[in-house]
Amino acid sequence: MNTKEYIDIAESHLLHTYNRYQIVFDHGDGVKLYDIEGKEYLDFVSGIGVYALGYNVKEYNDALKNQIDKILHTSNYYYNVPSVKAAEKLTKFAKMDRVFFTNSGAEAVEGAIKAAIKYAYNKDGSHEHEIIAMEHSFHGRTCGALAVTGKQAYREAFEPLICDVKFADYNNMDSVKALVNNRTCAIIMETLQGEGGIYPASKEFIEGVYKICKDNDILLILDEIQCGMGRSGANFRWHLFDVQPDIMTTAKAVGGGVPVGAFLMTEKVAANSLVAGDHGSTYGGNPLACAAIDKTLDLFESKHIIDNVNKVGDYLYKKLDEVAASYDSIVDHRGAGCMQGLEFNKPVADIINKALEKGLVLINAGTNILRFLPPLVITESDVDQMIAILKSALDEVKA
Ligand SMILES: *Cc1c(COP(=O)(O)O)cnc(C)c1O
Repeated sequence: MNTKEYIDIAESHLLHTYNRYQIVFDHGDGVKLYDIEGKEYLDFVSGIGVYALGYNVKEYNDALKNQIDKILHTSNYYYNVPSVKAAEKLTKFAKMDRVFFTNSGAEAVEGAIKAAIKYAYNKDGSHEHEIIAMEHSFHGRTCGALAVTGKQAYREAFEPLICDVKFADYNNMDSVKALVNNRTCAIIMETLQGEGGIYPASKEFIEGVYKICKDNDILLILDEIQCGMGRSGANFRWHLFDVQPDIMTTAKAVGGGVPVGAFLMTEKVAANSLVAGDHGSTYGGNPLACAAIDKTLDLFESKHIIDNVNKVGDYLYKKLDEVAASYDSIVDHRGAGCMQGLEFNKPVADIINKALEKGLVLINAGTNILRFLPPLVITESDVDQMIAILKSALDEVKA
C-alpha cells in the first residue's frame, strides 16, 4: 500500500483528534527517520522529546528484546528486577527519594496532584484545597492534568474538572503571591514551558516560587516531562537552581521510546501522603517499561548525553540566533539546550510543511512558534544541515 492508501484507511478508522502531516513513518536510524516510500528526514522533533538517544540504538534494542524473551508483565503485587533497578537509578539521577512509575506523562501529573492533595488533607482534614498552576502551561489531557493546564481552549468543554485551580502568570512573582492563601496546597509548573511556547522559568522566578512554598508548607511540583532528562542541559532543569521540588514528574524521554512516565517525591512527602491502597496502576512500572528506563539511564551516562546537550545546544543557540537576525518575521528566540523555539509574527504551518518536503522534521509550539526538540545525540554537523534546510524553507515560503 502507498502513503495515500494508508492515510485514507487511518482517516476512516482513527478518532480524528489530530490534524496529521501527510507522512507514514516506517523506521529510524540515528537522527534520521524514513517514511514508507524510503524518503529520508533529519529529525528535530524526536517524537516530541521522546527519542533522546536517537533511533535504532543496538544496546537499547537488545535490552528490550532480552526482556521480551523473559517476561513483559507481572503485576505490582509482586517485585520485578527491572523495576527495582530502574527505581534505584532514576531516584539517584533525579535527586529524589521515591518514585511511582506510570504509563504516560499525564498519569504522572495525576499521581503528583493526588499526592499533594493527600498531603494537605492529612495536615488539616479539609476538602477545600487549591492548586496554583501557570498560564500557558501544559500538563496533559486527562482530567486532573487538564485541570492544571493553562490553556482555556483545552479545558472549556470538560469543566468542572478537579479541585480549585488558580492560574498565575509565569515568571511573575507578584502574580503568584497574589494567589497564595491558606487553602493553597501546591504550586505546579514546568521548569521550561514546552507546548505553551518554549518559555524558560527564570532563576529568580523558580527560586522565588520555591521560597514561597517552603515558607508556607505548600508543595512545589515541577513538571519536567518535556524539559527534563537532559534536554535543557542537566539531568533535570531544576538541578541548575537552588531549589528542591517536593514532587516532580518525568515521562517522554525517560523510557527512550517505550510509553512510560514517573512521579517522584521527597521522603517527607512520601511519609505523609499516599499509602497502600491510595494509588495504583496495572501496567505502571512493568518489566518491559522499566528495562527501557534502566537501559536509557545507563546510556545517558556511557554516551555522556548531558555534555553533548551543553555543547551542541550552545551551538544550536548561536546558529538559531543568526537565523533570527536575518528574518524580520522572527520576533524572538528562546529556550535552553536541545529545547529551543523561534517565535514568528505569523503562523509557522507553511514553514513546517516546506521543511518536511525538504526532509526536515520540525514542529510548532502554539501557532507562531517553531520548536526544535532534536534527539540529544545530535552533532554540530546535524545542526548545520538543519539550518541549511530551514533557511531554504524560510526563503521559499517568503518568511
Ligand atoms: C507531554 C507533556 C505532558 C503529558 O504527557 P503525555 O505522555 O502526553 O500524557 C505533561 N507535561 C508536559 C510538560 C509535557 O510536555
